[in-house]
Parts: sequence; C-alpha cells; structure tokens
Amino acid sequence: HPASPDVDTIVAISTPPGRGGIGIVRLAGPQSLPIAAQLLQLTQPLEHARARFARVLDSADPNAKTLDDAIVTAFLAPHSYTGDDLIEIAAHGSPVVLEAIVRAALSHGARLATPGEFTQRAFLSGRLDLTQAEAVHDLIAAQTLDQARVAAQQMGGAMSRRVAPAKESLLHLIALLEAGMDFASGELDDVDVVPPSQIEAAILSVQTPLEALAASFRHGQMLRSGASLALVGRPNAGKSSLFNRLLERDRAIVTPLPGTTRDTVEESLALGGIPLRLIDTAGLRLQGDRPADEAEALGIARSHEALADADLVLLIHDATQTMTEEERTLAASLEGRPHLLVLNKIDLQGSDFSLKSTAFMSKGTNFSSQDTSSSLKGTGFSPYIPTRQSKGALAPEGTPAPILTSALTGEGLEELRTAILRALQAEGALADSGALNNLRQQEAVATTLQALATAQAANINGLPHELMLLDLHAALRALDSLTGATTTDDILGRIFSTFCIGK
Ligand code: GDP
Ligand code: ZN
Repeated sequence: HPASPDVDTIVAISTPPGRGGIGIVRLAGPQSLPIAAQLLQLTQPLEHARARFARVLDSADPNAKTLDDAIVTAFLAPHSYTGDDLIEIAAHGSPVVLEAIVRAALSHGARLATPGEFTQRAFLSGRLDLTQAEAVHDLIAAQTLDQARVAAQQMGGAMSRRVAPAKESLLHLIALLEAGMDFASGELDDVDVVPPSQIEAAILSVQTPLEALAASFRHGQMLRSGASLALVGRPNAGKSSLFNRLLERDRAIVTPLPGTTRDTVEESLALGGIPLRLIDTAGLRLQGDRPADEAEALGIARSHEALADADLVLLIHDATQTMTEEERTLAASLEGRPHLLVLNKIDLQGSDFSLKSTAFMSKGTNFSSQDTSSSLKGTGFSPYIPTRQSKGALAPEGTPAPILTSALTGEGLEELRTAILRALQAEGALADSGALNNLRQQEAVATTLQALATAQAANINGLPHELMLLDLHAALRALDSLTGATTTDDILGRIFSTFCIGK
C-alpha cells in the first residue's frame, strides 16, 4: 500500500478534552513524516513503531525554543491503524500545548480530521471491516465491562467470522446455479440440472444461521442500551422503596434522565455488567383506582407504556395485604413475558416467617399457600404469604417463585438481584460475541433473509433460475453490506459521523 499523494494528511487531538498527564495528537497521511519534522526536534530519526524523544518546537515564537517535551511514535504504511503513515505525538496533557501542535501541523499543510476519520481511513484501506469499525466506537462508548468485552470481540472480527460460513454456502449455491445457466445456454454440456430439493436445502443452510444472527439483535441491544425493568404494583406496595434499595449499591453509572415526571422515575444502574434502566411506575393505578386528575391520567398512560415496553417486569405485592382482583388480572396479563413476583414487607411477619421463607426459596420453583381454593389459577399468585402451616398448594407450572423482600431491612435484596440477572440471562441479555449490534447491522441481515425467502419461494414455485439468481445476488449484496464490502458512501458518512474527532 504505497502512500497516495492525493490523500490529505489529517491531524487531531485524540485524547479527551481537558487537562491530563498526557495528551496525544495524531497525524495520518502521506505528509505525516515531513510535517512532523517541521514541528519536532528529534534526537533520533523516526522508525516504525519506535518511541522517540522529541522537543515540540514553538512555531509561533521562533525565539522561545521549545513548547514541550514529547514522546513520538511513528507507524509507517501499511502497518498503522489507518493504513497510511501515522504519527502519534504524546505531549503533556495541556490543551493549549496540544492545540498549538495542531495549529502548527495545519500551517504545514495538514487539515483537521473530521469525526471518525482515522477509523474511516482504517476501513477504506481495508484494515477494518465495517462491523469492526463500529466496534471501535462501541468500545469507547462502553459503560460496562461486558459491553467492552463484546465490542473487543467484534473489533477482532467476530461478526465477519460468524457470517463467513453462510456467505460461503450462498456463494456456492450461486456458482452452482450459474453453472446450470451456462449449461442451459449451451456453453457447457453435461452439467446436471440442480433439483429443487437440493436448492431448497442449500437456501435453508444459509437462512438458518442468519436467522439465529437476526435473533441476537435484541440481546445485543440489551447489552448496548440496557434492559428496561419496570416496577409495578398497587400504591404503597413498596415500589419506590425497592427502587431506591436496588439503586443504593448498584448505582454505578447513574444518569438521571431528563423529562422524568412525578409519574415515572427512571434511573440507570449496572447489575452484573448489564446496564439496567429501572422504571418506578409510580403513576400506575390498577383498574378500579381512579386517577385524581388529568395530570395523573397522563402519568398512568406513561406508566402503562413503560410496562408494555419493559424487558422485565417486577410485580410488587405488599405481603401483608390480600391479593386484589386487579393484581391478579395484572399478573395474568404478564404471563408469557419475563416477570418476577416480589412479596415485599416480609419484615412485618416476624422472624419465623423469614426463616421459613428462606428455606422455602431454596427449594425451587413452586411455592405453597395457606389458601388452596381461591382463584389462583393462571395468576401465579398466592393471596397470602406462606406460613409454617402451609399445606402445599402449588402454583401453576412455569410460574417463577416469588421473591420475598423487605425494602425496610434489605432482606431478600441479594436474592432479588440474582433473580433479575437470571431472568435477563434467560432472555439472552448476556455477552454474545457475534451478536448484531445496531440497527444498520440488523437491517443488513433482515434484507438478506428477505431476499433468501423470495428465492426460496421462486424455487418452490418452479420459477426460472434466472429469477432465483437475482434474489440470491441481492441476498449476497445485503450480506456483504454487513461488513461494509457493499456499503454506500452516505451510509458510511452517517456511521463515521457518530464518532468523535480524533478516533
Ligand atoms: P409505593 O407506593 O409502591 O412506591 O410504596 P413506597 O415505596 O412509597 O412505600 C409505601 C410505604 O411502605 C412507605 O411508608 C414505606 O416506608 C413502607 N414500606 C416499603 N417497603 C417496606 C417494607 O419492606 N417493610 C415495611 N415495614 N415497610 C415498607
Ligand atoms: Zn412510589
């Protein structure tokens, strides 16, 4: 890869704004070396991947000799991040010094890098595919270690490796059908016509792994933007108290969201590496509890929305109260989606109960109740908390065991945290190295699958192979756009503009 003279040399401060022990200015492009030579007084010539001591010259004032001391490292084409000559000047982290270095570089012919331009060059020179370039952005933006791990795997090319076998199969099928076409047009002889059943199996072998990949989007999404967790229940059940308890210890990355109202309170926390958005649906009134005014009615609507959108719902019930009809209805409406039942205020039951409930929790999934006759079916609820006298009416199959808590004493909070993590793990929220990470990637796979489905329909309906090949080529193009082999400039522009300058 020879440095091409028509490519600009770009410069930017790559360390974050503000003061630091060290600040780094990056120069990339064919003129990097000559420009650096003007800015720096080197004691030894620059060599690939070798750190060199240098004095930063004060180009604004030739009388004052130097502005700073720096360590300078050159990475020569093609063995650099961008693929062209790249120089990193690590000076002291003073914004005024770093800006002076950039200004001097500009005066010697460099131009300011646009956001993400270093990484864009890495992509354009083939050093990174598009999912890897996106992973650079994700790694820098990671808020939890798990997010960083997944991004690091993607940066290492996990996505390309994951789709490689499907792409191979697709190419093979296309080649097979094209050979058949050549045969039909008389260019080849003795090629067997591929039977539809073989084509069907071949398309299926491309579809199946891509469908799994498409399903991974939700998981990646949870890891990227967090899972949302709604606390619902009747007023006074202890939602806000549990909300605060959960935040107490795990409030690692709390960012109060603007626009929260008195009706829904939303906070972020990291639980076991998963970023969570915890929503206290204070405004949720169950059927029968009338809203007081219009503002509250609005809050109720918002709370119901939060409930509908939540990845996991915590249904909080005050253990000292009997279950109301409305709570049972709410519980029934949650069946089939991830939810946990929380019986709160167990401290009001005395120490007997706590011991009993601990033993009971460790037993497994079902729980017993005093009341074996009331209308529990399908609700997963016991109207009363279990007691020593419980005789063993079992909750319906598949009902999660309730978690017994006291927001007052903190009892059961560890169990609640564990149960939340388990429920999210069951949802696949945990690190998946080859998961689709953003809407662009998801669209690429969805388009591929659509084209494959059309091809399969054409095959099953006995349409000519020319038509099927059009769809298969469309599928290949869509699949290639995932890694950037066939991505248009405007899409590239959109992706890299989300980066910071200096990346
Ligand atoms: P919300 O309306 O569901 O958000 O309920 P709050 O969290 O505001 O709690 C309602 C009342 O119950 C408050 O007075 C809390 O102090 C009290 N409370 C909440 N959790 C517990 C608990 O576990 N034990 C006891 N004894 N009181 C609790
Ligand atoms: Zn509340």
